[in-house]
Amino acid sequence: MENKVPELFGSMVFHEGVMKERLPKSTYKTMCKVMQEGKRLDKEVADIVANAMKDWAVEKGATHFTHWFQPMTGITAEKHDSFIAPAGNGQIIMEFSGKELIQGEPDASSFPNGGLRCTFEARGYTAWDPTSFAFIKDNTLCIPTAFYSYGGQALDKKTPLLRSMEAFNKQAMRIIKLFGDTETSRVNTTVGSEQEYFLIDKDVYLKRWDLVYCGRTLFGAKPPKGQELDDHYFGAIKPRVKAFMSDLNEELWKLGILSKTEHNEVAPAQHELAPVFTTVNIACDHNQVTMELMKKVADKHGLVCLLHEKPFDGVNGSGKHNNWSISTDKGANLLEPGDSPSENTRFLLFLVALIKAVDEYQDMLRLSVASAGNDHRLGANEAPPAIVSMFVGEDLQAVLDSIESGAEYAGKDREMMKVGVHVLPRFFKDTTDRNRTSPFAFTGNKFEFRMLGSAVSIACPNFILNTIVAEELSKFADQLEVAEDFTTAANKLIRKTVIDHKRIIFNGNNYSDEWVVEAEKRGLLNLKTTVDVLPYYLSEKNITAFTKHGVLTEEEIHSRYEILMEGYVKVVHIEALTMLDLAKKSILPAVSAYVKDLAETITLKRQVSTAINCTSEEGLAVELSDLSAAFVDKIKSLEAALATAKEMDDEKAEAEYYKDTVLLAMTELRGIADKMEEEVGEKYWPFPTYGALLFSV
Ligand code: ADP
Ligand code: MG
Repeated sequence: MENKVPELFGSMVFHEGVMKERLPKSTYKTMCKVMQEGKRLDKEVADIVANAMKDWAVEKGATHFTHWFQPMTGITAEKHDSFIAPAGNGQIIMEFSGKELIQGEPDASSFPNGGLRCTFEARGYTAWDPTSFAFIKDNTLCIPTAFYSYGGQALDKKTPLLRSMEAFNKQAMRIIKLFGDTETSRVNTTVGSEQEYFLIDKDVYLKRWDLVYCGRTLFGAKPPKGQELDDHYFGAIKPRVKAFMSDLNEELWKLGILSKTEHNEVAPAQHELAPVFTTVNIACDHNQVTMELMKKVADKHGLVCLLHEKPFDGVNGSGKHNNWSISTDKGANLLEPGDSPSENTRFLLFLVALIKAVDEYQDMLRLSVASAGNDHRLGANEAPPAIVSMFVGEDLQAVLDSIESGAEYAGKDREMMKVGVHVLPRFFKDTTDRNRTSPFAFTGNKFEFRMLGSAVSIACPNFILNTIVAEELSKFADQLEVAEDFTTAANKLIRKTVIDHKRIIFNGNNYSDEWVVEAEKRGLLNLKTTVDVLPYYLSEKNITAFTKHGVLTEEEIHSRYEILMEGYVKVVHIEALTMLDLAKKSILPAVSAYVKDLAETITLKRQVSTAINCTSEEGLAVELSDLSAAFVDKIKSLEAALATAKEMDDEKAEAEYYKDTVLLAMTELRGIADKMEEEVGEKYWPFPTYGALLFSV
């Protein structure tokens, strides 16, 4: 297989190489311009491109095409149309026009829209994003598109991401120009997202309705062995998992997705895949395809891939590490100190813009990763806390300290650190300590945002990151563009920003209780749940930033707020109903059956002899009967809570009620079930145990 990788790689992608080969020279040139500069495509060019795309796709076995988009559900959507058109005489031809390539019109009425589209105006449009290549999946030519309403409002995750790239480019270019750089013509943010997931056996999975309905277990006593021995992390990969990974890699490579590393994670049955980084919108498409293929390929191997943030209590959940950096079209990484004083000033300017952004928009970063599933992880000693802070590491901290104090820099070479005069030592890459507890860590030439849940699209965290940094860059540029002496002004600005925003930097252990206290003293936000953070979306500060840079309109922000709040309620509601269902139809009957058998055993034993010892059966029967009575009480409490929630019509109040009351009732119900599970004979228990799930492969 190995030898075939180079020819396999990207073989199902209509990438630049294919365009060059298959398009007339002038069309190819136009396409390059369109891709690099975001220019519009006119109809004639589109017709030529569409035809070449269709010929290529048909040769590869494709029969259909689809506008592939990323609605607010967080997963991708597609509606397939075939290339077939009647040609008379009962014959057909394969056809695909420029119009079909550029725009589609899927019925949008069933996608979440947060009140943006009244039902009478159900039309939604998809528009080709030519910066992301078309590809073939399941014999279908997939055209990456943005999805928007009749009125032009974004109905998807991709549109704000694309808009944020433009905003970022615009503001970053203003800064770049101040350095007299005339070569660079485009600045993009780059992302590599490491994806965690669980793999379990499909037969076992299908016996767990909580996993089937909710993606996470809602009941389950702790198995004798979990992750305490740390013997799974980076351990040898089992043959069945290895076969899955090889197959997955091959599928990903065909689509030009550079899946690079794979290893076992901390929890049993947990694994991770890391791709090579790329431009942010492509990274986003790639991550969506990766998640989809993980599920598909797992199925082929009789496995199920769980992408939920917390499939199992008591062992680590899954996240996604969003490695984020800034890159120019000339290949420079702007988060890497350069070889000249001027490059270092540039590095420091971008760095402090980021520090300021993270400090001023802690709420938006927390919001960007908010979901009912991720609430189970953040702050649970397995993932960063809900408090946003930044790790810069000892060496970079020393640089920032010397900038602040104006004192001698006590770094490795003990040189005087003067911004714009001295060269920064190039030590960061090797010595930045891997602080695994930080939500936002500098790792040499990029930042790793670690709060993301495993299931969510990376579009939201990245459009938010792009926008808030663009906002700080724009403020910097406003000041620096009118400064008399650029270097002096830049130095002053860097120093002031460090002083004003250093509270956001924390290099210690983010999992410790002391940090929670310290963070509060520093005035940092600690927004523990999705419901706590969502209202921040509507704050004036945030609306101003997102509208100013044309990333979201006020209307779109409101709609997103509503979709997220409603989504939270729906998720918890489904979980609660699933619990009630399992509690009443599976768990109670199982416990009763066991108690009945115990009682019969006692009766039979007594018939043999009154002297026979029945205390174990009696003890168990009494304990389980008491527990199931308490269990029924908790069922009633949960039912009552749901009934109360149903009466509420204020969405925010309802979400708060779910968070405070319904979730608590669910936890209490589970507590008793898990206790009963520990006492009930294995063959009576109605579904596979945690042990059977976690060690099923
Ligand atoms: P390791 O953590 O083993 O040192 P890396 O730091 O090289 O590995 O990469 C971790 C992830 O960060 C990978 O997905 C990688 O592609 C990504 N990454 C590396 N450099 C950048 C960059 N400049 N921009 C965005 N992501 C990057
Ligand atoms: Mg990582």
